[in-house]
Amino acid sequence: MSEIRFDLITGKMVIIAVERAKRPHDFVIAHQEKKGSKNCPFCPGNEAMTPPALIEIKDKKGKWLVRGFPNKFGALNREEKEIEVPALYKAEYGYGVAEVIVESPYHDVTFGGLSVEQIKMVFHAIVERYKAIAEDKKIKYIQVFKNFGPRGGASLEHGHWQIIGTPFVPDLVNKEIEGTQDYIKKERKCPYCEIVQYEKEAGVRLIGENEYFLAIAPYASQYPYESWIIPKIHQEKFEDLDEKHLSGLAEILKPLIEKYEKEFDMPPYNIVLHTLPPEDLRNYHWHLEIAPRLTIAAGFELGTGVYINPVAPELAASVLKIDVLQPARKEVV
Ligand SMILES: [Zn+2]
Ligand SMILES: [Zn+2]
Ligand SMILES: [Zn+2]
Repeated sequence: MSEIRFDLITGKMVIIAVERAKRPHDFVIAHQEKKGSKNCPFCPGNEAMTPPALIEIKDKKGKWLVRGFPNKFGALNREEKEIEVPALYKAEYGYGVAEVIVESPYHDVTFGGLSVEQIKMVFHAIVERYKAIAEDKKIKYIQVFKNFGPRGGASLEHGHWQIIGTPFVPDLVNKEIEGTQDYIKKERKCPYCEIVQYEKEAGVRLIGENEYFLAIAPYASQYPYESWIIPKIHQEKFEDLDEKHLSGLAEILKPLIEKYEKEFDMPPYNIVLHTLPPEDLRNYHWHLEIAPRLTIAAGFELGTGVYINPVAPELAASVLKIDVLQPARKEVV
């Protein structure tokens, strides 16, 4: 079970998830074992090691290509329990949803090594589960993300994505949405649409583009070699992705991740989605943020919340530059 606790001074939330109580020796860095496919709960043949599937995309022979199920060790879950809150403090029960999407049956293939078709299927599954989770009105935000490598936070090596539905809209997401409203009020334009237009023309932070998406190193990148993928049209919600945009997304994401994997020799990384909360009526523009974990947040970052990035985004863009191999297909009229 989990608790959502609030800092008495700042109101900042934290999820205390004690599902797997950890002792100091559990935190030794890079303790991820190369278990191989035999004991891997995400490999075909080991389905009984996970909760029953919520989604399976299968090939013609009936074998699954993408498989999603509840996260056995999720930080939040749906059982509701009373919690004890000390008189001084504020906390609530950690209601929520946590699911896993296994991105392929292949244990050793990295995300960048998957085919464009396979990546598209992964996003199909994510969109479907996203919509299903959004039906629970107690869920206020749905975070889609991928962790890769032990330092990226992945505890299993078989490639997968995670979806966590929270009973609150996280501060960071709220800040981006509020910032978008403020910008629109002042400039009468969406700031993300402005970024797309500006970076396309400026070129110095442009990593690649196709018909539907732009990949850039953001101007104020917090992490070295951080990148964003932004839809070129003003699209508020990730779950509104249609077939063409799904193809376009897979076609830009594959070469970009492949580039990270080659340039940095399989770096740990995180991919996170930022999108409008399901019930939110404000204006926004969804996007993906990708951050390789090349540095560790240290004292200054911890003390101030301000990151020191030793790599200029302009240099990052020139290193990450990609050719988008398959142009997104033209609309059939
Ligand atoms: Zn596996
Ligand atoms: Zn926009
Ligand atoms: Zn964002």
